[in-house]
Amino acid sequence: MIRHATRLAPSPTGALHLGNARTFLLNYLLARTRGWRIILRMEDLDGPRIKPGAATEVLTDLEWLGLEWDDRAMDQSQRGVIYQAALEHLVAIGRAYPCTCSRSDVERAASAPHADEHHVVYPGTCRRRWGSLESALAGKRQAPAFRLLVQETQVEFEDMFAGPQHFEPARDIGDFVIYKANLEASYQLAVVIDDASSGITDVVRADDLLPSTPRQILLQELLSLTPRPRYWHLPLVVGPDGRRLAKRHGDSRLSHYRAHDVSAHRLLGLLGYWSGLLEERQPTDMAELLERFDIGCIPVKPIVYSAEDEAYLTAGHKG
Ligand code: GLU
Repeated sequence: MIRHATRLAPSPTGALHLGNARTFLLNYLLARTRGWRIILRMEDLDGPRIKPGAATEVLTDLEWLGLEWDDRAMDQSQRGVIYQAALEHLVAIGRAYPCTCSRSDVERAASAPHADEHHVVYPGTCRRRWGSLESALAGKRQAPAFRLLVQETQVEFEDMFAGPQHFEPARDIGDFVIYKANLEASYQLAVVIDDASSGITDVVRADDLLPSTPRQILLQELLSLTPRPRYWHLPLVVGPDGRRLAKRHGDSRLSHYRAHDVSAHRLLGLLGYWSGLLEERQPTDMAELLERFDIGCIPVKPIVYSAEDEAYLTAGHKG
């Protein structure tokens, strides 16, 4: 029998806010109620966006909330050699190539139809441009990024929460970056390698990452990685304007509430209420949430962080 395992995978790019906290909490409750192992993994690859001290802060936030893990995986920043070997393999089988396009090159060359706010389909400019890394280096005098060559294919999977998913990566995504010009693996490459190394069977995360999943499935196939995880994409917490909860909606960082002596129990009460586990906002503890946890209660629509939520948390301010 396989032992199920999941991961809590924070990026230390800043402190946790209510939205991240809710996803981590649900991941935790799902795992603990089903007996899965929980691995903590620090996703500290995103060079310039990593903030000094943020990893420690994130751990403090998770522990304060009452989350625990069975093991901690190696931080991504320590695993460069492993990611590089995967890149070399993909280049050797003709499925990855160096790309010297700048962001503005890509935007200029891309045809508009599939371009949206977050993503421009790469038009394939460098696909056959450079025979090798050396020629790319010589041609541009700068380190290239590497893209995965995406062939015409369909990616389908059954999301355990969001239901059936269908993607056409060549049309919707195009060749995407798997290695950045700063010689760091991209999130997409690192995540699939790490999930396989840790034996992750269940990936639970917010549904803003749903478009990443077909990219990750393609990489798992090409690198013959196992196990192939099941995915649970949960709705996001958004501000009253419908946009993903962020600074513009006020300070919703856990550290902010902690600094005002709002108790973790009060916070859990809001997160539990948002998740359909409590009828009203009221302080609670992890034992009660574990007892009440039912994946069927989690609303399928995004949660809107409202004035009532803020008032409930503020009522817990001391001093
Ligand atoms: N590190 C990512 C984040 O904090 C999560 C990645 C994942 O769950 O695959 O958004």
